[in-house]
Amino acid sequence: MARLPELCPGPPPAAPLQFGPVTLVPGRKGGRYPYCHSLVLTGEETWVVDPASDQDYLRTLARSRRVTRVFISHFHEDHLKYHHLFPEATFHVPQAEAAAFASLAAVFELMGLTDRRFRDYWGQTLKKEFRFPPLNPLIPYAPGERFQTGGLTLEVVPAAGHTPGHSCFHFPRQGVLYLADVDLTPFGPWYGDLASDLDAFEETLVRLGRIQACTYLTAHEQGVFDYQGFQAGLAYFQAVIRDREERLRAALAVPQSLPQLVARQLIYPKWKEPLFVYEHMEAQMLMKHLARLRKQGAVEETPLGYQAV
Ligand SMILES: [Zn+2]
Repeated sequence: MARLPELCPGPPPAAPLQFGPVTLVPGRKGGRYPYCHSLVLTGEETWVVDPASDQDYLRTLARSRRVTRVFISHFHEDHLKYHHLFPEATFHVPQAEAAAFASLAAVFELMGLTDRRFRDYWGQTLKKEFRFPPLNPLIPYAPGERFQTGGLTLEVVPAAGHTPGHSCFHFPRQGVLYLADVDLTPFGPWYGDLASDLDAFEETLVRLGRIQACTYLTAHEQGVFDYQGFQAGLAYFQAVIRDREERLRAALAVPQSLPQLVARQLIYPKWKEPLFVYEHMEAQMLMKHLARLRKQGAVEETPLGYQAV
């Protein structure tokens, strides 16, 4: 089996980093869930992107400046956590998943949560730990839409796959591209919602790879990449997808049901409590690969389960 290329992740930023009017605010815990790195944009107005980095920093910002707009890359709670610090801002959210910023039912639908116990748990978690839903006016943005303040232009770059509306933000004048959850972390790409799309994710990797910038920022962990590091990260993400698929194929030398495959923990080697969350993500991600392998005729469904042909 082909080995994964080396990825040498750097440490997450220890302090805010400035790229002209774009400031990256490091998320707590190295920008790991339930946090992400945020951006503060300073033009004529002050805007924030993905307000889930650091409560103290964002609270001080909210007290010292009027933040008029908040841009959110996609509906995941770890990009929204401190939304309540900006009650006066309008929230710009991806058109394709705007409903998931207002209703739990829409979140459950995108995630593919059908299990009652999981829905109850997740609904409580979102309300208590993420103060869901945000009460701000929601303005859906479209792919390619541009927003301007002073010398700063934010352009919405559609980047579907992780979620249907997942978007990157390009700041062409500064040569900065914010990749959100195309996060280039050692784990690899995440497509664990029902509405995640593996083919779309791969197309996104190719399309993003053509965007020339000086600095590439992500929402988690290392957070800052130059062009070379960005290209290496994209190649690594593509390789992780192939590696997962190869390992799944190898596991299907003997027929196996989806629950049996899930129990092998091919995607998440370590599960944490509550286990049903990991079980769900593992199943969702495996199903994307199974659907693709079946379409290719590489796997078939037999009475005993899935089997490699
Ligand atoms: Zn996400």
